[in-house]
Amino acid sequence: MTTRRNFIKTSAFASAALLVNKSDAAELKLHQNSFTPSKPIVLSTWNFGLKANEAAWEILIKNGKALDAVEAGVKIPEGDPTERSVGYGGRPDRDGRVTLDACIMDENANIGSVACLEFIKHPISVARAVMEKTPHVMLVGDGAFQFALSQGFKKENLLVEASEKEWQDWLKSSNYKPIVNIENHDTIGMIALDANGDLSGACTTSGMAYKMHGRVGDSPIIGAGLYVDNEIGAATATGHGEEVIRIAGCHLVVELMRQGKSPEDACKEAVGRVVNLTAKRKKNLKDIQVGFIALNKKGEYGSYCVQSGFNYAVYDANGNNLIDADYYLK
Ligand code: ASP
Repeated sequence: MTTRRNFIKTSAFASAALLVNKSDAAELKLHQNSFTPSKPIVLSTWNFGLKANEAAWEILIKNGKALDAVEAGVKIPEGDPTERSVGYGGRPDRDGRVTLDACIMDENANIGSVACLEFIKHPISVARAVMEKTPHVMLVGDGAFQFALSQGFKKENLLVEASEKEWQDWLKSSNYKPIVNIENHDTIGMIALDANGDLSGACTTSGMAYKMHGRVGDSPIIGAGLYVDNEIGAATATGHGEEVIRIAGCHLVVELMRQGKSPEDACKEAVGRVVNLTAKRKKNLKDIQVGFIALNKKGEYGSYCVQSGFNYAVYDANGNNLIDADYYLK
């Protein structure tokens, strides 16, 4: 993980940031201690969030809608074959098939989602089409694919050479073990507050590498991988989807903000649920990573995760900054 995710050794509230690896130096500025809520603002998971935020920001800064911003933002890693956990270039399932999960939610609780979608480079845009052009909220598998074709999306091979080669190597052992913070998964979840004060979110992933064919994680599940309530705030998740679904993670984070918790405290309490249930189920917490990011209606934001290694990008009036999330397992 440290090879790609070179992050700033700071927390959301740290006063200064240290750039660890200059090759990732995408306009990283010092993170300010002053945590003045501002809008517009956009947050997204992991360091590919930096580039994604740039695309979102271009829309937000022109008074564009949060919904358009989050779609445009997550399309950046979706379309980038070097990002191997999202969209085109994503790692395949154990049968060598790249199956994608995505969902989107706007300020009016309009929702759209696709799961286990193959051959389409931008599942987030298909999710948006589900939201806008069908009477339904979720399409899966071949149904999602046929719908995408009917909407003019092109069928493309998404399995890039590097992913195919890794999968061939994996087949030698065929041992399914998602490793915490190793890059055989990762999702871009993005949440934004626009100049008009409206919130939206998007979430997209190729899921866990070498998952069973048909496996769906939290990312396309509204309430698990993403939730937006325009009166309260928005949250999105990354990490082991099964654990996020178990606690209906992002809905929980938003409900905790509704009860008055700060975004960071809401994420912390949701992670606490993961921790408690993991103990109850007698599983090893060290094998689990779950990270949440959250943003409230005022533009305050925060995050929390199970263990170190999760970071997120925030673009606001202070610029585009990568922040290390605080974590439970110290
Ligand atoms: N949450 C995603 C999934 O379970 C993977 C990740 O974000 O690491 O499919």
